[in-house]
Amino acid sequence: MAVPTKSIGTPGTGAAMRLMLLGSGELGREVAIEALRYGVEVTAVDRYPGAPAMQVAQHARVIDMLDGDALEALVEEIRPDLIVPEVEAIATDRLVALEARGFNVVPSARATRLTMDREGIRRLAAEQLKLPTSPYRFATSEPECVEAVAAIGVPCIIKPVMSSSGKGQVVVREINDAAAAWARSVTEGRGKAAAVIVEGFVDFDYEITLLTVQHAGGTSFCAPIGHLQIDGDYRESWQPQAMTAAALEASQAVARAITGELGGYGIFGVELFIKGDEVYFSEVSPRPHDTGMVTMVSQELSEFALHVRAILGWPVGEIAEHAPAASVAVVGIGNGDDIRFSGIADALRESGTEVRIFGKPEVRGKRRLAVALARADSVDDALAKARRCAGSLDVAID
Ligand code: AMP
Repeated sequence: MAVPTKSIGTPGTGAAMRLMLLGSGELGREVAIEALRYGVEVTAVDRYPGAPAMQVAQHARVIDMLDGDALEALVEEIRPDLIVPEVEAIATDRLVALEARGFNVVPSARATRLTMDREGIRRLAAEQLKLPTSPYRFATSEPECVEAVAAIGVPCIIKPVMSSSGKGQVVVREINDAAAAWARSVTEGRGKAAAVIVEGFVDFDYEITLLTVQHAGGTSFCAPIGHLQIDGDYRESWQPQAMTAAALEASQAVARAITGELGGYGIFGVELFIKGDEVYFSEVSPRPHDTGMVTMVSQELSEFALHVRAILGWPVGEIAEHAPAASVAVVGIGNGDDIRFSGIADALRESGTEVRIFGKPEVRGKRRLAVALARADSVDDALAKARRCAGSLDVAID
């Protein structure tokens, strides 16, 4: 990726700095807000209308982002100075072709292609860079999956290679359950092809996201973010996660290796499992990370602000921290397009609390709809406060 060198013109004029956001969820919405603050013209793209980032950007477009022709046609129409992927499900091969034609893909088209599925990034990390990971095998049929489970041993985790947020993730505790786990995993996965990774279960002490920023001045790290996942989906995060100096140093070395290899400017969410002083690479998102929403209250520049500064080629400076902080995801369960929040005054009664409501248009099953944030003198207090804040919010779905 190259950095756009032009000046910032007024949005809506020919001189505008145009940013095209591929994926318009809650993380994309914060990127859009940060870009707007610098006078950038944002087009928010997603596969459904009314997505969170579309509600704040100057322009909104609805396309199937996995359709390469539709994606290319839109890029040609908008001629963005920056193409900023915010989700994994994009026709990334087409991004590679667009980059070759001179478009700027954040952080690089190769990074988006390699991280689109679990196989590309796992092979790069484990086989090419020799970073420590859980033992793993890939399988594309039931017999292959059963064989992989036997080779890895139990407990292990089966995940569709094309999935995120825990979708299709199945823990296998008995060898005999492998066939049933295969069936469950592939029906819940996102991709068209049936393919899974079988990973040995890492009995970690804790897991972190290490937000790593590559920018014109080098590479910077945010304080480590600890998090709790339920069914593979993030529910709580806190910053800083207490770590030994050796574990932190090893984590930064792993993060530097993987982000350096992927290349380009921007923020990366490097997910690591920590056991004692040992660090296992799990995965990396070449974009802001959901667990990093805590940085909206913990840092002077949130992960979204850091991302926007980095991709515009501007300095990020020292990453200044306000205080220990925590986030608690508010997950709505139900079916409907009439979503109402109440109890907000109560949720915000304690100082140092904050709420972000994403404005999602509908819920079918389970969906993250808001986040409660809190700052305090310690991570424990921040987490307790953020839980009280989230607990005071009422969501009605009809
Ligand atoms: P992922 O979708 O790969 O980020 O996985 C979601 C969550 O599942 C992780 O954040 C971990 O909490 C858990 N998990 C995934 N893979 C493993 C593993 N190999 N061993 C233990 N826990 C795992």
